[in-house]
Amino acid sequence: MRWTRDEITSLLEQGGRDLLAEADAARRKHCGDAVHLRGIVEFSNACSRNCAYCGLRRENAALPRYTMPADEILRVVAEGEREGVRTIVLQSGESDAYHDQWLAEVITAIKHRFDVAVTLCVGVRPPDSYRAWRQAGADRYLLKHETANTTLYRNLHPDSRLQQRLAGLNRLRLFGYQIGTGNIIGLPGQTFRDLASDILLTRRLDVDMAAFGPLVPCSGTPLANTPTVKIEMALRVVAVARLVLGAIHIPATTAFDAVAPDGRERALRSGANVMMANLTPPRYRELYQIYPSHRASNTAVRAKAVLACLGRPLAIDCGHSLRPVQEAEVYRKEHDLLGELQVPEEDCHA
Ligand code: SF4
Repeated sequence: MRWTRDEITSLLEQGGRDLLAEADAARRKHCGDAVHLRGIVEFSNACSRNCAYCGLRRENAALPRYTMPADEILRVVAEGEREGVRTIVLQSGESDAYHDQWLAEVITAIKHRFDVAVTLCVGVRPPDSYRAWRQAGADRYLLKHETANTTLYRNLHPDSRLQQRLAGLNRLRLFGYQIGTGNIIGLPGQTFRDLASDILLTRRLDVDMAAFGPLVPCSGTPLANTPTVKIEMALRVVAVARLVLGAIHIPATTAFDAVAPDGRERALRSGANVMMANLTPPRYRELYQIYPSHRASNTAVRAKAVLACLGRPLAIDCGHSLRPVQEAEVYRKEHDLLGELQVPEEDCHA
């Protein structure tokens, strides 16, 4: 079905009694009941950007910065694998606190020693970095567009441009990554139409995974006093995204638990098929303040307890892209021939 912006906007605005149940049925049809557990390792909190909503922003000078040593990262990955995690998400701010080659060696070591997929979530980087990390064995790259409203994007990100991120996603696809994007729900001034644009842009980008997460206001940032979005609204976005986007991975992000105690469970009943667990050692967690939350509860053990309550099995495979492999290959070949894919302007708006 080809959804229009008006149809999506109206569904986001009005919801409907059966919306969440319909999204849950669509999730079952496209993804099955098994839930993929992704383990996040927040290996560096250094960041040179100044995003208005994020506790890691460079103006937060009071925050001690760290980069985990490689051997500690590998120990954490080993523990995660023992807990049933089949994808490791290596996450950091955008900075040159570590070298490309160092991260490439960490990726190679993980792929060599463990039977896991590796997702990178380290922001916009030069093409050579993407290439080096892909060659080292990274499978996926998450680069959220945050908001498709270009004015809102500019106001919240004084030192980066939306088109840069979209161009980054296209490059990543060409390098052979499975790619992911996503948005923030509840930004000040964000409208239902903006959220519809986020979903449409995600569809146009043809991604393998998409994370739609609620804004959790963080103290010490310009958005500290923004009212927290209601869980019902955030669930509605996940549900509509599932209906529109079909067979892609959609996580119940840890931010859902920051807006409601059972937030991730509810997201998994509203269209999500992936659960995030935080593997970061406790001594670093307090320093990775993208937002405040009960981070101690986001462990792999807790995630598995949630799945047991839901009666959903833990997936035993790595949870790669749901699109057929041949399709990804054809895509790459076509775009290698055509050069870099242009992201249509009409999917963003001011
Ligand atoms: S959102 Fe990412 S790029 Fe922006 S300040 Fe936070 S860590 Fe840095």
